[in-house]
Amino acid sequence: MIPLDDARRRVFDDIKPLPIVEVPLREARGLVLAETVSAGEAIPPFANTAMDGFAIRSADLDGATESHPVELPIVATVAAGAVASRTLGAGEAMRIMTGAPIPDGADAVVMVELTEVRANPDGDDIVAVMAEVPVGNHIRPAGDDVEAGTPIFGPGTELTPATLGVLASLGRESIRAHRRPRVGVISTGDELVVGPRPLKPGQIRDSNRPGLLALLDELGVEAVDLGLKRDDERVIETSLRAAVERCDAIITSGGVSMGDFDFVKAVLSRLGEMNWMQVAIKPAKPLAFGLMLGTPVFGLPGNPVSSLVSFELFARPSLRKMMGHTELERRHVVAIASEPLRRGSDGKVHFQRVRVSTDADGGWRVGSAGGQGSHQLTAMARANGLAVLPDGDGVAAGGRVRVLLLD
Ligand code: AMP
Ligand code: MG
Repeated sequence: MIPLDDARRRVFDDIKPLPIVEVPLREARGLVLAETVSAGEAIPPFANTAMDGFAIRSADLDGATESHPVELPIVATVAAGAVASRTLGAGEAMRIMTGAPIPDGADAVVMVELTEVRANPDGDDIVAVMAEVPVGNHIRPAGDDVEAGTPIFGPGTELTPATLGVLASLGRESIRAHRRPRVGVISTGDELVVGPRPLKPGQIRDSNRPGLLALLDELGVEAVDLGLKRDDERVIETSLRAAVERCDAIITSGGVSMGDFDFVKAVLSRLGEMNWMQVAIKPAKPLAFGLMLGTPVFGLPGNPVSSLVSFELFARPSLRKMMGHTELERRHVVAIASEPLRRGSDGKVHFQRVRVSTDADGGWRVGSAGGQGSHQLTAMARANGLAVLPDGDGVAAGGRVRVLLLD
């Protein structure tokens, strides 16, 4: 067995970020920026009002109170998207809507809630203002969010929804980013079937492929369902050869253990530069990783929990590296065990499926998510973390334990 860190290093060293391409903003969500973006213009581009109300001169409201309002004639209206037709003079007010440019001559906005409009049949309507406001009140200056000419995002920035919004507000329609990986998923096993039809003796349903495809969706890569393959060396060879042609990485489940029909391992070692490892962890001890025609292939173990844990420890960080991320890992926290998390000594690090939550003081608490067998997928379904238990007998109630957060 080899230690987890060594196994991970062997895998990650072989993984390179994908090429950089120009991507339309609409298709860029979750990708990683590969350029420095500088603001060509200020955001907001002009001083504007944060409130619906009246543009005024602050000094004109000196002494205004609810019982002694100051009355000003309303000389114009400025809507968002419009520009005031003239300068605001002393003793005047202009109606103004959120987002509209501040008229020349005004130095503050008083919100509509502090005013009352009085009709004036002889001329301009009158606004009665019931409070003083300071200079600059409710004015959003030009460049308040982004100053023109400043670099705002650099290589490695994830294109989150808000990041895409900032880019759009700068007029960008596309950006340079690492290409989105296409990742194929193959299940192997003669015992596997799909769908509701009754199981024949010895059969089970394929649960790994839907789980792995969903993990890929969540990661933001393009997941390709390459189907279920029989335990037949020729079938697996043909499938893998076709898969590496159309994908940037392949994930298989099953067929990498010590059994007589574990052909994924056999095919990979014949066709690729394969690293078959017995990793000192539980679950997910066996891993076949290799490059086939330069394409990374992750041969994950077949047991349902093992395949998902192996994905978390090896495939997910690798795929993030391909995407151009610099931070490859999910977060770890240190939690207090609210019940014993027991294990036996076997030379491995155990990853127990747990529920993590915060207590009243904001500290992390952790308890078992259920049965810990590598076939017991429901505990994985309930879990939102993996407790990392070093070799030994586990953690007593009240003890501290490191937890890998899964959400
Ligand atoms: P293997 O790694 O092929 O030796 O499989 C180990 C265990 O995982 C066996 O009990 C398999 O039946 C089970 N298994 C393998 N692939 C899947 C799958 N796609 N879905 C559910 N169980 C699987
Ligand atoms: Mg199998």
